[in-house]
Amino acid sequence: VAPITSEADTPVEQAKALPYSEQYTRCTIESVTDDFESRPERKLTISGDKFDGIRTLVLEDDWIELPAVVGDTINVLGSYDFDLCDEMRVSRKHGGLIILHPDILVSSTKAADSSHCTRKAVLQELIRTVGDTTPSLIYGNMLHSLMQACMLENRWDDAFRQDKIAEIVKQSGGQLFAVNLEFEKAREELDERSKDLEAFADRYVGEEPKFDAFLSDPQAKDADRCRLAITKSVAEEEDVWSPRTGLKGKIDVTTLTRLADPRQPGTERTTPTPFEIKTGRTNAGMEHRAQTMLYTLLLEDRYGQSVDTGLLMYTQSNDVFAVKRGENELRGLIMARNRFASFLNSRLSLSDRGERIEPSQAVSTTSDVDRALLPPPVDEIRACKRCYVGNACRVFRRSAGGAEDVPADEELRALYDSATGHLTDEEASFFARWERLISFEEQELARFKKEIWTLQAEERESLGRCLADMVIDEEQLGPTADVSEERKSVPVAAIHRWTYRMRRNPKASTDVADLLGTSISVGDPIVVSLEIPRVLAVARGFVQSVSLYHVEIGLDRRITDLPQLERNPKESPVFRIDKDELSAAMGRIRDNLLQLFYADADERRRKLIVGLKAPQFDPKLAQDAHRVTPSHLNEDQRNAIERVLAAQDYALILGMPGTGKTTTTAEIIRALARTGKSILLTSYTHSAVDNILLKLAEGNTPSILRLGNSDKILPSLRRFTLSPSDYATSLEDIEARLMKPQIVATTCLGINESAALGGGLDISLFKRLSEAHPDAVVNLSCQYRMNSDIMSLSNKLVYSDRLKVGSEAVGTQQLALPDPDALRDAPLWVQEILDPKRSVVFVDTDALPARERRDQSLIDNASETALVKELVAGLVNARVAEEDIAVITPYRQQVKLVVHELSGLSGVEVLTADRSQGRDKECIIISLVRSNSTKNAGDLLKDRRRINVCLTRAKSKLIIVGSHSTVASAPVMQELLDFMRDRDWIYQL
Ligand code: SF4
Repeated sequence: VAPITSEADTPVEQAKALPYSEQYTRCTIESVTDDFESRPERKLTISGDKFDGIRTLVLEDDWIELPAVVGDTINVLGSYDFDLCDEMRVSRKHGGLIILHPDILVSSTKAADSSHCTRKAVLQELIRTVGDTTPSLIYGNMLHSLMQACMLENRWDDAFRQDKIAEIVKQSGGQLFAVNLEFEKAREELDERSKDLEAFADRYVGEEPKFDAFLSDPQAKDADRCRLAITKSVAEEEDVWSPRTGLKGKIDVTTLTRLADPRQPGTERTTPTPFEIKTGRTNAGMEHRAQTMLYTLLLEDRYGQSVDTGLLMYTQSNDVFAVKRGENELRGLIMARNRFASFLNSRLSLSDRGERIEPSQAVSTTSDVDRALLPPPVDEIRACKRCYVGNACRVFRRSAGGAEDVPADEELRALYDSATGHLTDEEASFFARWERLISFEEQELARFKKEIWTLQAEERESLGRCLADMVIDEEQLGPTADVSEERKSVPVAAIHRWTYRMRRNPKASTDVADLLGTSISVGDPIVVSLEIPRVLAVARGFVQSVSLYHVEIGLDRRITDLPQLERNPKESPVFRIDKDELSAAMGRIRDNLLQLFYADADERRRKLIVGLKAPQFDPKLAQDAHRVTPSHLNEDQRNAIERVLAAQDYALILGMPGTGKTTTTAEIIRALARTGKSILLTSYTHSAVDNILLKLAEGNTPSILRLGNSDKILPSLRRFTLSPSDYATSLEDIEARLMKPQIVATTCLGINESAALGGGLDISLFKRLSEAHPDAVVNLSCQYRMNSDIMSLSNKLVYSDRLKVGSEAVGTQQLALPDPDALRDAPLWVQEILDPKRSVVFVDTDALPARERRDQSLIDNASETALVKELVAGLVNARVAEEDIAVITPYRQQVKLVVHELSGLSGVEVLTADRSQGRDKECIIISLVRSNSTKNAGDLLKDRRRINVCLTRAKSKLIIVGSHSTVASAPVMQELLDFMRDRDWIYQL
């Protein structure tokens, strides 16, 4: 049967017959059969949540090319009645649209671009490359921003325009600097180019279409042309995700418009309309039209109304075109989107196919899988010659196809050879392998991301990745007020324009008022969605703080004035806050990898990293070092500085715990700065970067530029950041701010995904280089933190007795209890465990009822929390300073529980293993959490490196609380427990 509304012409009109949220059906493909005998058809049998049993979809016309296989997910759009019909047709005649892999949200611009070369669009998605900046591109961007600002504020007068021009020119300073374009010249040019904007507003902005507000249509006479009124501009750069259509996009300006069509008088109505600003010459070409058309679909999702027209404006001429959604064009675009999604999906399901990359595959050869991961090249000289991902395309081709897959055309072959002729087989394989490892990591991020729309808020909250049913407690422009004076002076970053304090909805159906059950924590990226009416991803930002009942978030836009809220003005809006994944970062990593393999790349660096060429040292370069190296450094530390100064390629310093890594690094930086070198300081964590900067900031400070989100940087170091509102005013000013500082400090990215880690992404560059060239490594092995007992654990687990105490005093130090008598009333076990003579104690809970609790992926242990609380109380009663105590646990949920139980003792830090890195305390209590009848110690306790980090935080006393029988199932813990048993360090409760 055909869709139910037979009189409707287009799928959109057919779909209008149904309530908006019902306009698509999510299905799984059960079988695919082709029948090309009578007339070409492809039959899909499908199952889905909205109907019982199996239905058949018959695909005709272009749809027979849908690259779908059994198990794929599709959305079926159109007015099909799945309850009444067993078989439905999707075709030109019957309408309907199929969205393949709808959870892959394809950017509308890429879907629009991909019709000519899908490979190009996929590559653009995979590598976030920053194209060349040219003056005309910069003028285009600035004019674009100016137009958006005028529209949003509906101000077009000269004074406003001049103010905005000055602001935009300052904000574009970095780009102007890149092309050496003076600010004043840019201001004058932008003024000249924007003179006609007021005339545009006079014509098109108003409540009703004016007599001369004709839309451009070269084919039509005035009498037949539509007239336009833009009644309001609602949002700029509105970022819309549409899991219904599998599309996403950033709409330049979301407007409300009225169109007067002389052929359909009386049909005017106010409609949300995407308004795309193009700064090139008027052409309204296919790519621009296609993009605008897809945006109409996005706005339908966003505002819950039918939107069938978009607007396309060219600033050079002020021409405005209406782009009506056409059935044929839309079908072609969705097909292109589906092809694109199909390739991305094949990359994202690498490990679902059971493929794993073993380290032994480091030098792999060509495989068909590699080829299928990218669409085939179009090999057309006109397109390929000016393709701006052309070089990436050729490196991918070389790494997948080896010598066999080369372009047949002579001119294309020459292009290919010049882009890849320098690469050896080993280098090509290295690229292929690491590129795939990045894809593993991406795959994991994508899996988490789709939960934001495929899982209900409560469901996702039970996995710890969402806060459901949240309402606004307090709203504020910019970062919070209740912070130090110093912080108040830090201007508002673009990413943190609004701050919200959120709490649970008091009318919530859930009875969980506290926020304990989430693993969302400070610094996590988040996406906020409106629950009623359901609007996905209305704002993005970061978590500023989490307490028992409140979460404070910094967002990129205001969420109290959303147009969708106007329908229910009396109800306070309810939101869900989801943990987001910054998948774009993987694109940047892939781009960085590619940079090593391009023809104009740094060949020396490639030979060092890929070919493992031995690094060179010239001792003459370090011969004066001893004269300026501070006398308080030990021999290892001095050697490290000299090795770095002598290095012509790289030097590696292995700093064991407590050996003064921070001090040594700071001194290395000073020594390099003295020789006039520029230095990039980077680490995975902000705190590691900041700790070194704190040392550098003492005394004679070299010039420093600290890059990063100022919310995450120590307040006392924010003076080294680029303040987002204190813009540079000239090229010289930028030069001084960006190019003069000798030290640039920022964080780099870490890797989480287990498939990627197992495949080798956990092998750091440090490990790779140090194993190949042990001579290039300097060890820092004299530690000044732990007493000998605590140090012996680390020597046992990791350092094979290479770690030494720096002085006898350090080796013999014990925890001082200023008031030991205060422990007299404490339980005997507390007194015994806290005895200062015991430096290391494993408190075995096996004889207690002390089982772990598990809720989905969240694990904690209430009994261990109670024991930790008693021990901390004992320490504090004996007048050990709270600041000298920390509790560490590998499980985030346990962190929350302990924080809650110790809420009166704010000086006692409670940390995850990872966050404890770089910290040290007199007394550390570790809660291992795992205790179960199946003796499952979990993955975290198998991680030798992580366990070592936890153990080596303690200076004088280390107490480990855990179930001996459970944790011993992890080999690392078994080794540790055997060692402690031999020394009688296990305390049986
Ligand atoms: S170089 Fe040619 S084949 Fe490769 S992505 Fe660009 S247009 Fe496509």
